[in-house]
Amino acid sequence: MLDKCRVERSQRKETVLVTKNLTCDEYKTPMFLLEDNSTFKMLHKPQTTPALGDYLFFYKNNKIGLTSKNELPVFKNSSHKFDKAYCFGYIHHHACLLCEGESPIGLHYSDVKLTDSSFPKEIYQAIAIGNHIHHWRSSHYYCGKCASVMADKADEPALICPQCHHIIFPQISPSVIVLITRGDDLLLARSPHFRPGVMSGLAGFVGMGESAEQALLREVREEVGLVVGNLRYVCSQPWPFPDVLMLGFTAEYEDGEIIIDNREIESAAWFNKYNLPELPHKMSIARHLIDVYLRG
Ligand SMILES: [Zn+2]
Repeated sequence: MLDKCRVERSQRKETVLVTKNLTCDEYKTPMFLLEDNSTFKMLHKPQTTPALGDYLFFYKNNKIGLTSKNELPVFKNSSHKFDKAYCFGYIHHHACLLCEGESPIGLHYSDVKLTDSSFPKEIYQAIAIGNHIHHWRSSHYYCGKCASVMADKADEPALICPQCHHIIFPQISPSVIVLITRGDDLLLARSPHFRPGVMSGLAGFVGMGESAEQALLREVREEVGLVVGNLRYVCSQPWPFPDVLMLGFTAEYEDGEIIIDNREIESAAWFNKYNLPELPHKMSIARHLIDVYLRG
């Protein structure tokens, strides 16, 4: 009964959604946003014939194929045999070509997040967004209704079944991430797949029939057993590993003791803002929420 009361109280709270007054820079999460001035431009151009110097993107399980010099491979007539590839964008005047199958040249595969890379931002953005596009296309090679091989839709970025005309648009999975505060304390937790020592906010996917605010309240309740209120939307971030859009919030503690679920969360605790543990990488919205909070 207590839980039920808490949920009902929290669900009423969600109607009080306050947006902080942030500067333009605070709205911008650090990576993966396509800004107007970026030299990487998205473009849907199926069956593109490669030209010298075009960038080649080979992916395997959230990993990107790089040369022995840790660079993206580029098209050279002598070393590449394929005739056409899917173009998903341009960097300056060079096409970004998504290549299927095994690379005809020797590549090694690196984690697509490339957190320590020195790639220029436009290359990094193209690798990340290309990973999302690769995941979407390779997950829908066959029609889900009649099992025919899907084809590119000519006029927009979508796949279409040549038999039953079923259309699949690029798919994005919304997820919420929340930094919970209690005065000068922050609730930070760790998932078993985090790097050792790193603590972060809570996150989870939005379910069918749920608003982002309902998903947030449910995830907090399920993962750490707390009731929160005064939800504040801060900003969002594409997280193309492979297909997530993170919706970032802050929330204030209202009630309950920490009870971790021991499934998605292996530990959680309150930390004073002047004595924080190791935090997530600066390219993540998880870190961005913490940094915005600490800046006050
Ligand atoms: Zn079909």
